[in-house]
Amino acid sequence: MTHSFQLGKFSIGVGDRFAHQAKAQLATCIEAGHAGVEVIPVWNKSNREHHIIGSEPSETRAAADAAVKALGWKHPYFCDADHINLTTVDRFLAPCDFFTIDVADYIGKAAESATIEQFLKRRADLAGTLRLENVAEPIEISPALLRATATKFLFAVQEAGKVYRKIEAAKGKGNFIAEVSMDETDSAQTPAELLIILAAIADEGIPVQTIAPKFTGRFNKGVDYVGNVTQFRREIALDVAAIAWATANLGLPKNLKLSIHSGSDKFSIYSAIHDATKKSGVHLKTAGTTWLEEIIGLAEAGGDGVALAKEIYAEAYAHREELCAPYATVIDIDPAKLPAPASVNKWTSTQFTSALRHDPHSPAYNASLRQLLHVGFKIAAKMGDKYLRLVEANEKVIAKNVTENLYDRHIAPVFLGKPAPTAVPAHAEAK
Ligand SMILES: [Zn+2]
Repeated sequence: MTHSFQLGKFSIGVGDRFAHQAKAQLATCIEAGHAGVEVIPVWNKSNREHHIIGSEPSETRAAADAAVKALGWKHPYFCDADHINLTTVDRFLAPCDFFTIDVADYIGKAAESATIEQFLKRRADLAGTLRLENVAEPIEISPALLRATATKFLFAVQEAGKVYRKIEAAKGKGNFIAEVSMDETDSAQTPAELLIILAAIADEGIPVQTIAPKFTGRFNKGVDYVGNVTQFRREIALDVAAIAWATANLGLPKNLKLSIHSGSDKFSIYSAIHDATKKSGVHLKTAGTTWLEEIIGLAEAGGDGVALAKEIYAEAYAHREELCAPYATVIDIDPAKLPAPASVNKWTSTQFTSALRHDPHSPAYNASLRQLLHVGFKIAAKMGDKYLRLVEANEKVIAKNVTENLYDRHIAPVFLGKPAPTAVPAHAEAK
């Protein structure tokens, strides 16, 4: 099969911390196909995650290839070097064919003034009122905003160009997918800023297929969106329209689409995402919550499984400060809501799974416990074989949880427009 390095309309980024669930994840794309929508799987794993676990990007590739072979998947699939930069990209070059070039750290560093002036001259016609397709609200760009945005983002885009050219030199032009991400930063980018950034990316010659801005609101790992859903709905519609304008007018790839680094489980905005992107397409990047389904499966299995799940919780509880530190900006744990390990040790399998499983209607669901375990994968990584042997022994019950979670809670609402678990009632979203 000749591989096309063009990302399809709908794609899902999945994380698989311990590289054991690729088959269960791929099964959801097959199920989506049966429901009439082609969803392309992309296995993503960041450098930070590889570092914490002590794994290599080549292992993610091997697991993806094996799953594709085992299930006879005939459509494209990709391995994403997630959040890489110039210094971390090397070990991803051979095994990956999707590169999320993270330039968030360079936002706010000013490019040389001559570069900024050239950009302002070249792109002077961006200033004014832009009426976009499918949205009533225009995008207003004043000369001052154009200058401020160039000053804030041009250096970061130049940095993205350097990373892109390093990857291109290694892999060859057209042999990989390039994404530019700016989500791991403090302030959200407005649709007007996104449009200006896309002009800079076009000037830099990066054939970007997905762009990941930071949206307003909080995208904590593994839990629901915290923010104004109405505002998000407006913002994403404008972002999609800005991207459509950019592909039509700036010479960027026709399949350029929004990449949403969701951190998983943003149930209350899934309907807004579906509505805004059903025509344009979208890449939904989820976080490594598949690992939580491994814990849920182990707990459900009882015996040694639930004992290990409790042991992992106790260890995570004891090391909570150290585990949370690298994720400080993307988690919100209320320490008062974390049950003491001594009481968790008395829990039944059902008590454990209902605290951890993200069912917002269940009174037993505990978002703080869920977030702590989410960042607690280092504990399981340290257990090594002890953990993996039990995961392998309980493959069936775990796979069922992985597939159901990914399909029912993510793929169905985002790509098929089915209700999400926390579907916000229309009146609550209206204001
Ligand atoms: Zn991200």
